[in-house]
Amino acid sequence: MSPPKGVPGNPGAPFGVFGGMREVDVAVVGAGQAGLSAGYQLRRDGLDFVMFDHSPRPGGAWQYRWPTLTLGKAHRIADLPGMPLGTPDPARPASDVVSEYFDKYEREFGLDVRRPVDVSSVRNLPDGRLQVATSEGEYAVRYLINASGTWEKPFWPRYAGMETFRGRHLHTHDYRGPDGFARKRVVVVGGGASGVQALLEIAEVAAETRWVTRRAPEWVEGPFGEELGRAAVARVDERVRRGLPPGSVVSVTGLMLTDEVKAARASGVLHRLPMFERVTPSGVVWADGTAFDADVILWATGFRASLAHLAPLGLRGPGGGIVMDGTQVADDPRVHLLGYGPSASTIGANRAGRSAARAVRRALRDPVGGGRTGANRGEERPETPGRSGRTEIFPAA
Ligand SMILES: Cc1cc2nc3c(=O)[nH]c(=O)nc-3n(C[C@H](O)[C@H](O)[C@H](O)COP(=O)(O)OP(=O)(O)OC[C@H]3O[C@@H](n4cnc5c(N)ncnc54)[C@H](O)[C@@H]3O)c2cc1C
Repeated sequence: MSPPKGVPGNPGAPFGVFGGMREVDVAVVGAGQAGLSAGYQLRRDGLDFVMFDHSPRPGGAWQYRWPTLTLGKAHRIADLPGMPLGTPDPARPASDVVSEYFDKYEREFGLDVRRPVDVSSVRNLPDGRLQVATSEGEYAVRYLINASGTWEKPFWPRYAGMETFRGRHLHTHDYRGPDGFARKRVVVVGGGASGVQALLEIAEVAAETRWVTRRAPEWVEGPFGEELGRAAVARVDERVRRGLPPGSVVSVTGLMLTDEVKAARASGVLHRLPMFERVTPSGVVWADGTAFDADVILWATGFRASLAHLAPLGLRGPGGGIVMDGTQVADDPRVHLLGYGPSASTIGANRAGRSAARAVRRALRDPVGGGRTGANRGEERPETPGRSGRTEIFPAA
């Protein structure tokens, strides 16, 4: 039987085979909420680590969010460990507030994020370590904490005739607010919170809107408390433990009935239609022949985990997902995925960061058993709601 993949420092590798590569115990890919919280814990534990982020400035994916997504409209941005966000003006764009907060955080805790540095691939090395290829050279690492988010992988479903549409296709990823939708006829596709939020803004200026979703929305009376959060997290956790892709956030959280949403339902703006059958050059057509001429189709259809750089490791299983045990890839204890599945929220990312960093610390101290001994089991599981009553999954996007 070959030695387990995750045993670092497998003796017998020819000396010098890593020539030219910088050696470090842990690499963290991504400096969003998840990567920073891992970095904080790694720093506290005095571990030898390096952090990469290919975005130009601090803020993780928040730096790219549309300016009309103000802090007040975001669901909740959890404090990073060790430094509260405080009480910034809720009217400010969340992208600015979070970027400033992360910037201050990195400086306060001496987190030296190498940026903009792209991680293009992670491969196996013959001695059991991982080779991390970056735009500033190669590294040999024992453990990888991957926190690369979802923002860079917008999901576009395929519908017949999409390519024939003469109007504009737009994904939430490129949405910059309602300017530009004035007097337009707009179809918003998607039943998540991002679609609802965009629809509410666009309907105020557009000539006409239609809202289409695959499944009828499940409206949830707020507040989104501990019990709902626990149930949602358990459903995602159950999926990723079985190796299935995590699925959409809204499919486990439902949609919050805020006062604004209730008003929009009463006014007819949030009148949900089933998915159209096809896209035509001038708009969309439903199965019964009803047509709507459109200038823009906004695809608020979510994101997928941005993991292309991990492809050489072959982590995906036949279910299309990666079998997870807490933050750890079940089949490869060298690799932790943060922000994947149940930890895809700011609170979940915090806990996952801490949990992964501690597991890595244990594994470095006990290289043979430490990586696999259920480091993420028991008291450090990142998925369960905190004592504060906060929940790890937020009803958004
Ligand atoms: C529209 C929208 C609204 C949301 N609102 C909320 C909310 O209100 N509350 C909440 O809790 N959650 C919200 N979320 C979920 C939110 O994305 C997460 O909670 C959290 O911010 C994600 O943090 P992260 O660290 O996992 O990833 P990200 O913030 O996406 O950070 C990933 C980082 O990795 C870097 N990166 C990626 N690939 C590479 C690579 N190959 N090499 C180098 N660097 C790389 C990126 O540059 C990025 O900085 C929202 C999500 C969306 C899409």
